[in-house]
Amino acid sequence: MLVDKYFKHHKVPSPLILEGEDHARHFEELVLWNLCETQAACGACPGCKKVKKNFHPDWIHMDGSVKMEEFREKLSALRQKPFEAKVRVFTMAHFEDASTFVQNALLKTLEEPLAHWIILMGVRSRFRLLETIRSRCLILKLPPVSQEAEAEEWSDKERKFYTAIQTQNHLDAYQFVESEWKERDHFYRLLLKFLKRASEEGYPGHWLQLAPLLERGLAELERNINPKIVWDRAWATSLDDKYELEYRL
Ligand SMILES: [Zn+2]
Repeated sequence: MLVDKYFKHHKVPSPLILEGEDHARHFEELVLWNLCETQAACGACPGCKKVKKNFHPDWIHMDGSVKMEEFREKLSALRQKPFEAKVRVFTMAHFEDASTFVQNALLKTLEEPLAHWIILMGVRSRFRLLETIRSRCLILKLPPVSQEAEAEEWSDKERKFYTAIQTQNHLDAYQFVESEWKERDHFYRLLLKFLKRASEEGYPGHWLQLAPLLERGLAELERNINPKIVWDRAWATSLDDKYELEYRL
């Protein structure tokens, strides 16, 4: 349970970003702590029961794929005073999918928060949010779900690549990309897999510089840009200082 583990006096901070693949499953718990009539997430009071049945009037939920118009409606619902509880809770799953327009609309809300707002958003990776949103929120990194199970599925080649990034081994990284990039979907899935691991491990070594650039690159891949270009650009930018040095030499 997240609340017991991470939040003093069971107080859920707001605005809060939950970062992790399976963030959505934690929302109910966080909402219960806010909308329970005994303030103990008892599970038995009318407030808790409504949350569990998904129809508490003070809980507004949406997905990152929400359209701008609907998002505006939800934001104005948020502005209303709570109907039954003391607060209104706004949860957004997979907010990394939200358009820049939607993210900017949320940003305005975050700039002038009202006392009765609890704003919780879930993302697979923080780097897919606007920096201005990230900087206004507390970020809770969720523990990995299946790190060990997945570790066994990695081939030697993949492990070598992951380490090559970590240690900034240009040659090994390049060789791997050369052998894998031609099939776009396959390459996309690989990048997702590596980024997930890097995130779970707190971005070891050079992953710290590379991950945000690759996250941006993923969005480009969705728009059909050549995977090799996406990779080369991210890698070169991540090594910027070094590249400049080599160039000068
Ligand atoms: Zn309750």
